[in-house]
Amino acid sequence: MTGFSGGCLCGRIRYKVTGDPVRMAICHCDDCRKATGAAFTTNIFVKTDDLILLQGVPKQYQHPAESGSTMTKEFCPDCGSQLFGYSSRGAGVKHVKVGTIDDASFVKPQLEVYTVRKLPYVRLQEGIDHYDKNRPN
Ligand SMILES: [Zn+2]
Ligand SMILES: [Zn+2]
Repeated sequence: MTGFSGGCLCGRIRYKVTGDPVRMAICHCDDCRKATGAAFTTNIFVKTDDLILLQGVPKQYQHPAESGSTMTKEFCPDCGSQLFGYSSRGAGVKHVKVGTIDDASFVKPQLEVYTVRKLPYVRLQEGIDHYDKNRPN
């Protein structure tokens, strides 16, 4: 697999990623839950240079993360879909929200983070790494 495409719910924002993901991680933190409205998020990390906006400009929202870094969320100003995010500590890498990918059947999460915040009804994936909080660098 090389590359994939995606967009928001209303179609105003479209993007493509030209390279393979550098990491695929499930996050159970409170911030991800609030930001997406879902029980957890699956974040597909890609090189910032590989992420190309084809149409539309996302709106940004910044907030401090539990880790002390500043997180930036990027979302569609019309429909509210959250598409991308990045950390002030994650130079050169952005994550794409799995739900915005046109065909996400290739996705195989490699780790889960912030499992300490996981909702009781959500089951951990077997055979991948789990971390109470963030993954050690
Ligand atoms: Zn939209
Ligand atoms: Zn999170």
